Amino acid sequence: MGNIMSKSMARELVDKNGVDVDKLVERLVNAAIAELANYYYYTILRLSLLGAEGEGLKKIIEDIRSEDRNHFEVLVPRIYELGGVLPDVTEFNAQRSALLPNTTIDSGNIRALLETLIKSVEGSVRNYTEICNLTCGKDNRTYTLALAILHEEIRHQIWFLEFFGQGVGELSECDAPRGSSPFVSKFLQAANNKLQVVNN
Ligand code: ZN
Repeated sequence: MGNIMSKSMARELVDKNGVDVDKLVERLVNAAIAELANYYYYTILRLSLLGAEGEGLKKIIEDIRSEDRNHFEVLVPRIYELGGVLPDVTEFNAQRSALLPNTTIDSGNIRALLETLIKSVEGSVRNYTEICNLTCGKDNRTYTLALAILHEEIRHQIWFLEFFGQGVGELSECDAPRGSSPFVSKFLQAANNKLQVVNN
């Protein structure tokens, strides 16, 4: 368990409410690694998508890529508040490969690729649901953060399913612009303010 460091006040409070903080931090660190790994993977993937279908998927990938980067950025301050740390680059590399979708998938085979991407986003929905369940009524800050990310992961799921032709279009018709992180952006602002305070 190299991801936990000294005790913090936030940690003590959450611990007092009956949350297994080590387990929670481990989940948050894994979630942050998965978000960054997705960002990395989508950055490469969008360059290899070709053809009309590929172009359509590329737009979705770009929007999800922006939001996943935001998810990474808002998770990190909470991990540190709870006394956790992110792994160094070597360790990140090892964990990343376990979390990335199967990159050997041929990006020309859009259907197979979509199935992989849908499976990956389903995994994210499951992870954030579990974090919400762990923290509900016990750690409000982590809970509201995880819930905001969960809302956006569900949006990602809908975008893929729409593209896949499973017709859930009406749900997201009047939705906020894709890629704008409508649920997470307020946490992003708070995270940036906090960084400025730390740097001054
Ligand atoms: Zn995400």
